[in-house]
Amino acid sequence: MKTATKESRDKLNPETALNILKQGNERFVNNINTHRNLLQQVNETSAGQFPFACVLSCIDSRTSAELIFDQGLGDIFSIRIAGNILNEDILGSMEYACKIAGSKLVVVLGHTKCGAIQGACDNIEMGNITALLSKIKPAIAKETKTASNRDSTNKEFVDNVTTNNIFNTVQQIKIQSQLLSEMEQTKQIKIVGGLYDLDTGKVTFYE
Ligand SMILES: [Zn+2]
Repeated sequence: MKTATKESRDKLNPETALNILKQGNERFVNNINTHRNLLQQVNETSAGQFPFACVLSCIDSRTSAELIFDQGLGDIFSIRIAGNILNEDILGSMEYACKIAGSKLVVVLGHTKCGAIQGACDNIEMGNITALLSKIKPAIAKETKTASNRDSTNKEFVDNVTTNNIFNTVQQIKIQSQLLSEMEQTKQIKIVGGLYDLDTGKVTFYE
């Protein structure tokens, strides 16, 4: 797997960029990860970077985007925050990744058994965690299928909130960022959600 260059990245479109992540996750799941000489990639990327995608994922120690998509240095912008929520700085980072640095794809990657989602479902209030988890609350309000046991002991409820939160974040990117929304409408980029399964290592994209 070669280190991304401006030429190799500019040849991609949003669809082919998404396919690279799909194929990378396929390799990860099948334990046939690409051998990379990371020190060589340090040298090859020292003069510039040409990442093809920007991935917003959780801080969870099991959801490193580079690892689960089998990517190397210089391949993806990685934004990580508990519960893969959105704020102005994260939007600014995504705008930088796409508009300034040329990425073709934004992925909002949630995951199963997310502690932040479970904490929000349990209404945990503590220090600055309260404000963070409040950003997940709209996904809970949208969950109208579950009448009782609306807490983290109910796996189905947590799973529904997890997918709602992914869809919400994708929708909010388009609402809150005119810049990214325009880039998507003119097909310069794609903004998609995905779910990482902690049990299997598999990512399911919502297209
Ligand atoms: Zn998480």
